[in-house]
Amino acid sequence: MAANICSNMFDTTQLQEQNQRNICNLLLSATKSRNIRTGLQLHTHILKSGYQAIPIISHYLINLYSKTQLPFHSKLVFQETHIKTSTTWSSIISCFAQNELPLLALQYFKKMVNIGFRPDDHIFPSATKACGFLSNCNMGRAVHCFGLKIGYGFDVFVASSVVDMYAKCGEILDARKVFDEMPVRTVVTWSGMICGYVQFCENEEALMLFKRALFEEVEVNDFTFTSVVRVCGSTTLLGLGKQLHGLCWKLSFDSSSFVGSSLVSMYSKCGMIEAAYRVFDEIRDRNLGMWNAMLIACAQHGHTSKAFDLFQEMESSGVKPNFITFLCMLYACSHSGLVEKGKCYFDLMKRYGIEPGDQHYASMVDILGRANKLQEAFSIIKEMPIQPTECVWGALLTGCRLHGDTELAAYAADKVFELGHVSTGMYVLLSNAYAAAGRYEDAARARKMLRDIGVKKETGLSWVEEGSRVHTFSAGDRRHFKSNEIYKKLEDLEDEMEKAGYVADTSYVLRKVGGEEKNMAIRYHSERLAIAFALITFEDNRPIRVMKNLRICGDCHTAVKFMSKCTGRVIIVRDNNRFHTFEDGNCSCSDYW
Ligand code: ZN
Ligand code: ZN
Repeated sequence: MAANICSNMFDTTQLQEQNQRNICNLLLSATKSRNIRTGLQLHTHILKSGYQAIPIISHYLINLYSKTQLPFHSKLVFQETHIKTSTTWSSIISCFAQNELPLLALQYFKKMVNIGFRPDDHIFPSATKACGFLSNCNMGRAVHCFGLKIGYGFDVFVASSVVDMYAKCGEILDARKVFDEMPVRTVVTWSGMICGYVQFCENEEALMLFKRALFEEVEVNDFTFTSVVRVCGSTTLLGLGKQLHGLCWKLSFDSSSFVGSSLVSMYSKCGMIEAAYRVFDEIRDRNLGMWNAMLIACAQHGHTSKAFDLFQEMESSGVKPNFITFLCMLYACSHSGLVEKGKCYFDLMKRYGIEPGDQHYASMVDILGRANKLQEAFSIIKEMPIQPTECVWGALLTGCRLHGDTELAAYAADKVFELGHVSTGMYVLLSNAYAAAGRYEDAARARKMLRDIGVKKETGLSWVEEGSRVHTFSAGDRRHFKSNEIYKKLEDLEDEMEKAGYVADTSYVLRKVGGEEKNMAIRYHSERLAIAFALITFEDNRPIRVMKNLRICGDCHTAVKFMSKCTGRVIIVRDNNRFHTFEDGNCSCSDYW
């Protein structure tokens, strides 16, 4: 009899244990497949059968809600768990850190430490991640010190997260110090460090470190690739970018849509739109970032109808556009002067439930302003539900300047001043607007403010890539070893251009110089020197690619048109705003830039 009861009891506990294991497995698979319906049903079952008191089950529940982005459900489960083990704490802190609730993550981290739990190599990374997210370096340093004190200084997970935290807080030297002192590093450590350098535009360091990673045979991942390909895009290092593309292909990262989007924007920024299309076409599984990268490329290269087609293709493939997508579309419309199309996208955006931000309004005002629909642009500003910002008024100012509405321009300038803070690029626009309206005192005031804040205008630079060498020029530059030949070429070319009808427009020279001098200053703007260098260096008929850090001025724009006509060469100039492809006396931007 006694033996019988005993065996029955054994059966029940065994059954219960089996049940618990089953529930855990089911919860795990619901978490993996992000199936919240099954998850909720399981949770109901757990509550009914009283299993929520078991720590391991509450741990799985917290994870389930964390991965399905319901962190406050996780919080409730945590609060209802009576016996909290260090795993329970670990899962709730990581849940907050993963779901971008850094303050809660840190608050719970403190609570846990206060009641006497010792954080482990899972909890520390969550806490440092939260500090990085908040860019709170002091807090991050405190967590780092605490980790060192209890012996996690050389733990690879903890130290990697510390590298990432310092990098995110902008303390790049501290990040590097921890990185250098680590005895073992994983790909996450390398990526965190490289990405940190890219974020703070320390491009050279980023590339050097990447090279070292390859040399030390680190298995780089798609995240690392994305970072370094971006460097090539922003510094227009086409040669290196191509090499990296080859390496991606070799290591089979070429189908990753993250790497893909960085390749698309790299090729586009280097002026190779066709290569960007090829990368885009080869990757079938495209995320939103990849579509956006392709759309921006189309807009910058003036391939407007292609952008419209792609937008449609994107919609029908089931990818939902976001606010960046619409910014690309409006940008494309503005660069081609398509007013009705612009309005369509602006309305469509609202139908997608996306509230236009100030940049969308600015684009719309820009489209209307350029098309000489200044009053309509003005009414958009008057009716917009958010406060118009400097970029919105700036767009109106540009339109007014193009079409000579001095009165409205001065009004817009007043509005910019009312906003208080004015960005440095804006003062010149304001000063010109006042001067045109005859308000010379205000014009002087704007110029004085610019002088007072003491900003120097960024020096205009243009550069050309020749193999692995980059040749850089500034206006009137005579430092290049081929300087004499370059100037000779420009002079000869100018004679030809003048015969073809080119007349220098000196109104683009801001400095007060006499007529002849003015002519000299504008003749040697950096892009002209770069083009002349390319003409004497690249004898074949390949297109000439010139990069420039500032906007191309109106006179150079006209001059390069004539250059392309007289030499029969295709000249591609990328300024800080878009691409201009000059061919046989015309530009792809149709003079919208
Ligand atoms: Zn110029
Ligand atoms: Zn152009």
